[in-house]
Amino acid sequence: MARAGRTSWRGLRWARRVTQIASAALFLALIAATASLTGSGFDAATSATVPYPVEAFLDIDPFIGALVVLSTGAIPGALVFGGIVLALALLLGRAFCGWICPFGAMHHGISEAPPGRPAAARIAANRPRAYQKMKYVVLAVSLVAAICGSAIGGLLDPISLATRGVSLTVVPFVNYALGGALEAGAGSGVGALQGASDALYEATSGVAVYQRGFLVVGGVLVAIVFVAALVANRWIPRFFCRGVCPLGAMLGTAGRFGVLALVKDAEACDGCGQCQVHCSQAAGPKPGEAWLRAECDLCLNCVAACPKGAIRFGLAGRKTDEKSAPDVGRRQVIAGAALGAAIVPILRTGTLTSPIGRPDPACIRPPGAVDEEEFLARCVRCGQCMKICPNNALHPALDEAGIEGLWTPVLVPKVGYCEPTCTLCTQVCPTAAIRRVREDEKTGKNGAPMVRIGTAFFDQGRCLPWAMGVPCTVCEEFCPTSPKAITTRETEVVVEGRTAVLKVPFVDPRLCNGCGACEHVCPVRDRAAVRVTSAGETRSPRSQLLLGGGDPTAGRKHGS
Ligand code: SF4
Ligand code: SF4
Repeated sequence: MARAGRTSWRGLRWARRVTQIASAALFLALIAATASLTGSGFDAATSATVPYPVEAFLDIDPFIGALVVLSTGAIPGALVFGGIVLALALLLGRAFCGWICPFGAMHHGISEAPPGRPAAARIAANRPRAYQKMKYVVLAVSLVAAICGSAIGGLLDPISLATRGVSLTVVPFVNYALGGALEAGAGSGVGALQGASDALYEATSGVAVYQRGFLVVGGVLVAIVFVAALVANRWIPRFFCRGVCPLGAMLGTAGRFGVLALVKDAEACDGCGQCQVHCSQAAGPKPGEAWLRAECDLCLNCVAACPKGAIRFGLAGRKTDEKSAPDVGRRQVIAGAALGAAIVPILRTGTLTSPIGRPDPACIRPPGAVDEEEFLARCVRCGQCMKICPNNALHPALDEAGIEGLWTPVLVPKVGYCEPTCTLCTQVCPTAAIRRVREDEKTGKNGAPMVRIGTAFFDQGRCLPWAMGVPCTVCEEFCPTSPKAITTRETEVVVEGRTAVLKVPFVDPRLCNGCGACEHVCPVRDRAAVRVTSAGETRSPRSQLLLGGGDPTAGRKHGS
């Protein structure tokens, strides 16, 4: 009887494994699908719209939905999917963590990968510990910070972290390594290697290999956090899920009155500890210990491993030995909430969003980004926009938007400029931190007001014609606006005491949309002679230039 029961639990455990693998594969496939739109270079004819719901996993994440609802008061349409996941959690607790979450699947795989550790070490690592309370504090900090207007909790959301980690760490790494290997093969002079290199290029071009390369400014920090979260599993299985994940804490809390419970038969148990060896969440499955409902992710490892049939899942209400409320003290949650309330004003002191803050010139947001205060209330730092940008123009911010803006997207024209007809990043943002923008809004065609993300300025001390009397019209040639925002005029310049008449460039700020093409192509390579700043960006009244003698205080908050 015990054997038959164990066999059926094993079957269900296999179902869970298959679901996890399929979910992780779908997650990676959606990222690859994004890459296939952009990896081999942007084609305006075919890349105008994103045909796949590449942000689907973010849409079904109820923690992200909660952040946006609390921080903006708006109810996003996609919240319905997160609501379904939350409703399922009311019945099944953290089953999402054990069966669906792609980041959870990555942790699970690394935790279980060989070489395994001795059973005694695994039992010790799988005992419930105090660090597991931390995730409830992270949840409290995040939700209260959201109420105070910041979606900074997105930094630790598992789907956001996994999307950011894979897109901005794994993809550039694979691109770099594979690109180098392909080049070495092609240049080896050995026929077989060259053939293999060509075949590999055909297979990976547009998915893992970018024509122009793919680098992430400041990506090392993103990589450290992502890799550390994964490597930690080798010491404590599913450490992130157990100790840090605010989504896990949310689902565990929601599942307090779930319909399933671990039913234990202490008499049948011979104390072998197999359930503890295999418990993925340190949820106390062994008879004689309290089962921690809010920790259990229904992985079914314990019931499949028990040789005596001493534990099984049954309907709640049956004789069971459990602790259903999250294992965290009220004081800890209150301290977390207080930190969440304090953190927003602390982080905003002296930044753009403070009442007397000044825009950072390097905080150039993607086209369609909403005003900075709302942007920080919406952006969950998932990196979708950065990943999909065909010109590799968007990068995770370090301090350009203050500490609160860590890993939100900023345009770095030196690496890539905003493609004139592209609207891809405006189509994939799961939280509407970047609103949808039409192509005619970007170009200012058909009478639509042009969306500006900044303005170009010349540094005449570095500009070749202005400073050195060397002819150069590269910026004018590349300026993509129509009519051109950069034009050259024959002007007398004095270089080393000699006067020469040269074509020198000027910017018309009324025509410039801040795309950064001029800065990108400027032949003065280290610090370009023409640089784009966020001045004049459409989204913010506070960033406007004083065209036509405008009021310098326009858009300021009262009292600032
Ligand atoms: S920043 Fe510009 S080029 Fe990059 S995805 Fe957005 S619209 Fe496209
Ligand atoms: S702005 Fe970019 S990083 Fe922020 S939520 Fe939208 S897609 Fe994600």
